[in-house]
Amino acid sequence: MNVRDSEVVKGLLLAEGYEMTDDPKKADILLFNTCSVRQHAEDKVWSEIGRLGRGKRKTIGLLGCMAQNYKKEAFSRSPGVDIVCGPSEIDNIALYLEEALKKQEKVLAVRERPRAEEIYHAGFYEKKDHAYIVVSEGCDNFCSYCVVPYVRGRLRHRPADAIVREARAAVDAGISRITLLGQNVSAYGADGAENGVCGFPELLEKVSKIKGLKSLSFITSHPKDTKKELFEAMRDIPVVRKYLHMPAQSGSDRVLAMMNRGYTAKIYRELVDLYRSIVYNGELSSDFIVGFPTESEEDFRATYELAKDVRFDSAFIFKYSARPHTKAAQLADDVPQATKKRRHAELLELQKNISQSLKKHAKTA
Ligand code: SF4
Repeated sequence: MNVRDSEVVKGLLLAEGYEMTDDPKKADILLFNTCSVRQHAEDKVWSEIGRLGRGKRKTIGLLGCMAQNYKKEAFSRSPGVDIVCGPSEIDNIALYLEEALKKQEKVLAVRERPRAEEIYHAGFYEKKDHAYIVVSEGCDNFCSYCVVPYVRGRLRHRPADAIVREARAAVDAGISRITLLGQNVSAYGADGAENGVCGFPELLEKVSKIKGLKSLSFITSHPKDTKKELFEAMRDIPVVRKYLHMPAQSGSDRVLAMMNRGYTAKIYRELVDLYRSIVYNGELSSDFIVGFPTESEEDFRATYELAKDVRFDSAFIFKYSARPHTKAAQLADDVPQATKKRRHAELLELQKNISQSLKKHAKTA
């Protein structure tokens, strides 16, 4: 989602006559489009602002989730920052830059409002043949460790015809691969077909009919909302890539309940079996968090066993860090760093071996 937001900001600024440079030293303006999902990512941004902001005076903007998370506090936290602009305000980025440049004023733009539909038509894609297209914004799931519902707001869907229109315009402009984006695409339309929204499998069908489109992917699918109909659409629509990113996060039912994920390890395993029985040779990837508060060795073993049994093609494995506003942040972060590190390394090693063996097998098959 952040990658797409960066593209949108670039598109809007290029249209206003700004030029891009790959060399931060040469830049007069530095914009940091940020993610708040992990503490480590935030720490890196603060340190990069300090490092790159040194020397010649530059106008510095903090955009995205960290802006929404820290609001006014960002100015005191990093005095070099001139603009603090949340994800819902990026449509006005050119205006905020002008204010900061001309009036030499600090600009705070963190209203919580639905994004303007024009954001989605900024007409700028980083790659010549690939486009990210947003299908929904925000999230209502409130997983106990996750800051997204607090910084990106409640779940809202774009109308299907607006998504198809954007996809068609992209394909007409030479794009042949599209990835549909949402924090949880499986929830698209699940709350009733209002305001031009349909079910996600139906949306895939609609977009797939665009002439010239060669590949259609989507991320992310929350296990609790992912149904057989999606797998059938993946099987039946030739242009849809047979790749499912369905984060398990943990293999322990106790931890999953504390995470407020809405499924058990058994339900997750059954869903994987269903996927594999319908989508022949479909790829599967997951996210895992190790060291969630109170995670015992037994809980971790359950996660390890899940990863070992399911044999994901790939997995993103993270060490837990408390995020502001979240429920989990009220719990003691009581798994020692050394234990988190060891569990992280163990799971990573397991996944590396599985990924390599699956690749080898695919080559010889
Ligand atoms: S589904 Fe959970 S982890 Fe994903 S964005 Fe929503 S709250 Fe965060």
